[in-house]
Amino acid sequence: MSSPSPAVERYDVIILGASMAGIEVLYQLRRKRRGRTLRVAVVDRQEVHGYIPLCQERLSRRLHDASARLHTAGYVTSSQHTEMIVGTVARMNSVARRVLLADGRALDARIIVVALGSVLAPPADRIPGVEGALAVKFDHEAQEVRERLQRLRAPGGPEQPRVVVVGGGISGVEMAGELAWMSQRSDDLQRPFEVTLLHSGPRLLPALCERAGALAAEHLEAQGVDLRVRARLTQMRSDGVVIEDRVPTSPEQLDMPADLVIWAGGVRPPPVLDELGVGQRDGWLTVDRELRALDADGAAIEGVFVAGDAACVVDEGGVWPTMKRAIECLWQAKIAAKNILASLQGTPRRAHRLREDFPHGVSIGARSLVVYGPLVLDLPRINTWFRRFLMRRYFARYRARARG
Ligand SMILES: Cc1cc2nc3c(=O)[nH]c(=O)nc-3n(C[C@H](O)[C@H](O)[C@H](O)COP(=O)(O)OP(=O)(O)OC[C@H]3O[C@@H](n4cnc5c(N)ncnc54)[C@H](O)[C@@H]3O)c2cc1C
Repeated sequence: MSSPSPAVERYDVIILGASMAGIEVLYQLRRKRRGRTLRVAVVDRQEVHGYIPLCQERLSRRLHDASARLHTAGYVTSSQHTEMIVGTVARMNSVARRVLLADGRALDARIIVVALGSVLAPPADRIPGVEGALAVKFDHEAQEVRERLQRLRAPGGPEQPRVVVVGGGISGVEMAGELAWMSQRSDDLQRPFEVTLLHSGPRLLPALCERAGALAAEHLEAQGVDLRVRARLTQMRSDGVVIEDRVPTSPEQLDMPADLVIWAGGVRPPPVLDELGVGQRDGWLTVDRELRALDADGAAIEGVFVAGDAACVVDEGGVWPTMKRAIECLWQAKIAAKNILASLQGTPRRAHRLREDFPHGVSIGARSLVVYGPLVLDLPRINTWFRRFLMRRYFARYRARARG
């Protein structure tokens, strides 16, 4: 890039992405006197963020938007030193520390934090037609699925509507359970529908203990979900899906009518990560233990940090098995904020610590589990209450304070 033009806005710190990692970096900076005086810009295309861990309950409206959304821009602009820039990040020159937005704006900073996260998107390169599947992570996606469901369930819709959920990990189990819960609450205006859950592995919740997987299967089937394990989606058509059943021992191709397909088969790196001038592993951005971005040769890039789902910690050539979870975002954001201040002040930086597990809440429609290692608690009321309590605690953290 050529020398800066007068139109370029300059900041001490730019945070790209204001979801769970980005907003926490700002929160952690504000906890320190020096951090509160920095001129910070936060860039995101969303001004408001729905609470992702309970996105299935926002879809069904069990949780209403008002109680399950963070007014991110309100928190960001609650200090006169911080600006919210609503826009789409298109590119970054990591060496010059310049960010280009899709609308042509250019922003420079002494430090840039990339917290552009992940997308829940089907692998269109591997499964023909699957780009027609929908997913639910962000608000606009939940809205689209809600509208499709409403049309399906309205009088005059298909005779026996069927929704197929793909993926038997935590997100897929939670989505199938919530859809079953919705279907059970049908009336004259909103007809019931069938829910099928496809999972290519031998049991549900492969990342959690066997008992959790078995209990999830039991709870889903008790709520009427048509559960298909060892069943892999191989094609999606306009009127249904093609699956390979009984994989891998005696695979058999099966056509299944479907009116709506919801992808819950895992997150992927958002395409913008390819445009940031940072080294990548499987599409994720490589960082060292101090969360400093690495270039393609593995050398640290001065003044660029990465936190949250987008980050892939590389240590002595190996990749850390970090969790792509809210709690990991909070841990990483704390280290990133400390290291931003250390870099500006010329003091030693801190190293991030690998933690491979943390308790999981798994909502399954009317049921709910808490799983930690081999321990499984099946206490639906308490778990549901506790997950909402955690959500309220999370929002309280970012309650907008007076300008100052
Ligand atoms: C369905 C689902 C359920 C989950 N449930 C749980 C759970 O129960 N518990 C748990 O701990 N974790 C859960 N997670 C994981 C957790 O939500 C993620 O780890 C967390 O959201 C990652 O936060 P992040 O800030 O790194 O990125 P993301 O949340 O992915 O956010 C990225 C942000 O960057 C913005 N952005 C992206 N690209 C651009 C661009 N080009 N320009 C401008 N802005 C951009 C987006 O608008 C977004 O605000 C779940 C994830 C999913 C998908």
